[in-house]
Amino acid sequence: MIIGGFQKFTMLDYPEKVAATVFTVGCNFRCPYCHNPEIVDPKLIDYDRALDEKEIFDFLEGRKGSLDGVCITGGEPTLQSGLVEFIKKIKEMGFLIKIDTNASHSNVVKHLLNEDLVDYWAIDVKTVPEKYKIMTKKEDVVKNIEQSIDMITQSRSELELRTTVVSGYAILDDFDKIIDWINGINKDAFSKLHRYSIQNFRPEKTLNSDLGKVLPCQEEYLEKISNKMKKICDNVIIVG
Ligand code: SF4
Repeated sequence: MIIGGFQKFTMLDYPEKVAATVFTVGCNFRCPYCHNPEIVDPKLIDYDRALDEKEIFDFLEGRKGSLDGVCITGGEPTLQSGLVEFIKKIKEMGFLIKIDTNASHSNVVKHLLNEDLVDYWAIDVKTVPEKYKIMTKKEDVVKNIEQSIDMITQSRSELELRTTVVSGYAILDDFDKIIDWINGINKDAFSKLHRYSIQNFRPEKTLNSDLGKVLPCQEEYLEKISNKMKKICDNVIIVG
């Protein structure tokens, strides 16, 4: 595992839980609005400052009983070759595991599901399928994402889907297509969903600096999206 950051305490990252968060380095996507360029852009990654896994295990050892779980985010955690072993060690300590993922590595998702290692998955639904390539600069990922969502829906794990609303990439009109897409993947996906998060775009720090000129959405605009999503999902939240 190449770990670029560690937050020892959060009440925000894991819904209804007190957790710590591990930030893994590297991502196969290049979302223009990504607000973690320092762990996504190879030119900016500082490998000398990567954290030792042992530091994290030692910390967690002393937090048994006071933390509920560990969030593993990125970057894209499923790129990490040591992910399965890393999670196994944390699970053995008795912590819950949440993973934030773009879901494009369905083979890794399958492996983690087969070993029942993840309690909560938060998957980014970046946009409608036909805009994925424009958004992520990555080809042929939609099928894998569909497989991941389908497998998780059929598992015991909790699933959250989340979309960052940003001009040109994911807008109000796209959400009808997103609903149809997810329903087409698995008709139980929305009823099983723990929640759907609608995230406002943050222009302060972006992978593509052009996005810094784009304004965040107005609250009323996000409410319209939220009302649309509430028709098919019980728990919809607006973030930011
Ligand atoms: S937003 Fe997520 S998926 Fe997109 S580049 Fe950043 S870390 Fe990768």
